[in-house]
Amino acid sequence: MRRFDYILVGSGIAGLYTALQAREHGSVLILTKGTIEECNTKHAQGGIAAPIGANDSPELHFQDTIAAGDGLCNEEAVRILVNEAPDRIADLVNLGVPFDTLDGKIALTTEAAHSVPRILHAGGDATGEHIEVTLSKRVRATDISVLEQYLATEIIIEQGHARGVRALNCRTGKIEEFAAKWVILATGGGGQLFKFNTNSEIATADGIALAYEAGAEIADMEFFQFHPTAFYKPGLPPFLISEAVRGEGGILRNINMRRFMYDYTPEGELAPRDVVARSIVYEMEKTGADHVYIDVTHLSRSLTTSRFPHIYRFCLDNGLDITKVPVPVAPAAHYMMGGVKVNTWGETSIPGLFATGETACTGVHGANRLASNSMLEVLVFSKRIMERTGAGNHNTAVRHSGNDEYRVLPRRQSPKSIALPDTPALQSLMWNEVGIIRNREGLKEAVQTLAAWHRLLPPPTDRASRELRNMVVTGRMAAEAALAREESRGAHFRFDFPQKSVAWQHHIIFHK
Ligand SMILES: Cc1cc2nc3c(=O)[nH]c(=O)nc-3n(C[C@H](O)[C@H](O)[C@H](O)COP(=O)(O)OP(=O)(O)OC[C@H]3O[C@@H](n4cnc5c(N)ncnc54)[C@H](O)[C@@H]3O)c2cc1C
Repeated sequence: MRRFDYILVGSGIAGLYTALQAREHGSVLILTKGTIEECNTKHAQGGIAAPIGANDSPELHFQDTIAAGDGLCNEEAVRILVNEAPDRIADLVNLGVPFDTLDGKIALTTEAAHSVPRILHAGGDATGEHIEVTLSKRVRATDISVLEQYLATEIIIEQGHARGVRALNCRTGKIEEFAAKWVILATGGGGQLFKFNTNSEIATADGIALAYEAGAEIADMEFFQFHPTAFYKPGLPPFLISEAVRGEGGILRNINMRRFMYDYTPEGELAPRDVVARSIVYEMEKTGADHVYIDVTHLSRSLTTSRFPHIYRFCLDNGLDITKVPVPVAPAAHYMMGGVKVNTWGETSIPGLFATGETACTGVHGANRLASNSMLEVLVFSKRIMERTGAGNHNTAVRHSGNDEYRVLPRRQSPKSIALPDTPALQSLMWNEVGIIRNREGLKEAVQTLAAWHRLLPPPTDRASRELRNMVVTGRMAAEAALAREESRGAHFRFDFPQKSVAWQHHIIFHK
């Protein structure tokens, strides 16, 4: 068995940035299931939030993050996030990420629910691509071992301690074992759980399922952020039309070209994502349409093409010049707030096992993520994992906190007739019953069907069957938590319980 000090599972911003830090403390292996650059990071458009502007402060960024999180943020983690942000941005600059500048200074833009401009971007709306390419080049130039086409299938646990990873070599079909002092999950999110999503194909929530099977605690799975505006064209996967488009003045119109956001909220287009996404769903129902429009035709052509070159090009390739005509959009699943529960040092409830990035739940996003806080979260908490492990500290396992609710996945009655699942069936069930607007009836159907699928699935053999199993397990946690939480808060909206309730001011945590 090959041995390393660190194993990183995943090669998005979390895997690459952490690996570059880790090599200063020991030998490093990155396992990644596709090529090094297949990930969600590459698709990030808007940018990274950091309180570095003249009119900004960590306190203001803290307040905006807490407001978006709707009562469920871990305030200590948010303080760390905003205070350590400037140093972590400096790290990216030092690593060579070419952030856009204005008059010699880093340019900052605004996004919904940020009270001042604080979003750094690169290549206009190609921030994630610049980060991914810069970091992967850096990794390639070091002694970090990278194994592509290796799908992690199991965390090796001995005497309650994570000791390594089993992985499927997707080229040979063989399982191989790797030992490490520290195992760090950086496997990203789970947008592929839903029929309409903005995520890369790799986003099948593997790390959460692996950690759950190993015995780790999984938190906040009912909170999934749906992005309000993804390019809508039947037959084409949804393509994100960034938050920043509304930040720069984009207007939402219904199919009759009427501006409608002020019918729903005084904040108009700049309301938080969940409010905008639900307003769009209501407006689509009202007008009997499957989309609305985002309109930037009133903005100058040069602003649109220079700020959003990627979006402009994508739409043009699909027959739309967005400087001349409004763009059809509809909501799509986008970001997983829940994940492997970690403390402010990235430690999970299993000694030796850490998690960072979208697969982790640090608690900074609470019930709803503030736009562009996710890549910042990666940098801040990955660095802290290194401070912890680099100093030789042993993971002491996360302690249970106060009034959080601990659950196991319950047995459920099977629906009358049930077929073996496939990915499209799972994605449709999740979209229809665990989507933007939820209710008890639909969620009951979802938990029963998912539990039956979990029982029925044959042992996985290849990458596709393993990913499907991982999505069934994580889908179960999302649906069970959504059914249990009889209130509406942040990204979780229950039609039958539309109000927020003080009785639900706590987290739901699953363990085996
Ligand atoms: C379209 C889009 C736009 C976005 N825009 C922004 C934005 O502007 N600002 C912002 O802050 N955030 C944005 N986000 C969110 C942000 O991009 C992600 O949260 C962040 O990049 C996640 O980084 P990560 O490293 O955790 O995961 P990823 O970048 O998704 O990387 C996960 C890695 O893990 C690997 N992996 C997964 N499972 C396994 C396994 N079993 N074995 C081996 N490898 C595995 C994958 O192949 C991949 O390499 C956006 C997301 C999307 C989809």
